[in-house]
Amino acid sequence: MELIDTHCHLYDAAFDDDRAACVHRARQTGILAILLPNVDETTWQPMLDLASTDRNFFHWMAGLHPCSVPDDPTALAVRLDEVAAYLKKGGAAGVGEIGLDLHWRQDNLHLQKEAFVRQCRMALQWNLPVAVHSRSALEETLEVMTQPDLKGLRGVLHCFSGTTDQAARAVEHGFYLGVGGVLTFKNSGLDSVLRNVPRRWVVLETDAPYLAPAPHRGRRNEPSYLGLVVQKLAEVWNCPADEAARITSENARRLWRI
Ligand SMILES: [Zn+2]
Repeated sequence: MELIDTHCHLYDAAFDDDRAACVHRARQTGILAILLPNVDETTWQPMLDLASTDRNFFHWMAGLHPCSVPDDPTALAVRLDEVAAYLKKGGAAGVGEIGLDLHWRQDNLHLQKEAFVRQCRMALQWNLPVAVHSRSALEETLEVMTQPDLKGLRGVLHCFSGTTDQAARAVEHGFYLGVGGVLTFKNSGLDSVLRNVPRRWVVLETDAPYLAPAPHRGRRNEPSYLGLVVQKLAEVWNCPADEAARITSENARRLWRI
C-alpha cells in the first residue's frame, strides 16, 4: 500500500507527546509522504521544524488560514507579506491553507476574500497548487477560484463536502477533491458524490488532529488512520484498497509535483 496524506497538521501541539510514534505508525501503514499546511503566524516554526526532520517525507505549504485573517487591514498586510516571504525563500510545495470560512464568521467576508485572492495570485506567481479550506462557503469559494484573473490556478478543495454538482464544477475547472475521515461517517452523503467523480481528481487526507474516521470519530486523528479512509474509498469505488491507494497517491504526486 502506498498512501499520501495530503493535509495533516502533525506539527500541532496535540502530537507533542508522541509525534515520533505517530510518524512510525504512519510509515507502517504505507504512508510515503505527508503534506503540512500552514495556519498562521504561530505555526510556521513548528511546521518548518517538523519538515526539516525528513525532506522527502514531509512537504510544507505557505499560507494564512481564513479563520486567522485579522480584522485590521494593516495586520492582514503583514501576515500576507509573511506568506510571500516564505514562498520567496523557496521549498514550499503549495500555498495553504487558504480559503473562506463562513461557519465561524460572516462579518469579515471581504477581508477573507482579499486574503484568499491575494494568496491565489501568489500561487500563480510561483506556479504552486493551492490547498483550499472552504466551510459553509463552497459557492463563494468556487466563485473566487474560477474568476477570470485567476485562470490557470490549480489545487485541491481540502475536506470536500459539497454536492455532486459542486464536485462536477470543481473538477471541470481542474481542482482536486480532498477526502478524509468524513467519508467514513454515517450519512455523510460523500460516498454517492464520489461515485460521480472521475477517480483522477480524488486525493486522500486526514486533516489530523481533526476529523478522525470511524471508529475513532470524535477522538484525535493521526496519519495512520488514512488506512481506514482508503478502505472506505475502495468500497465506494468497488476496487481493492491497494488500487485506491495507488490512484490517489498518483493524483497527489501529479498535483504537488512530489
Ligand atoms: Zn487544515
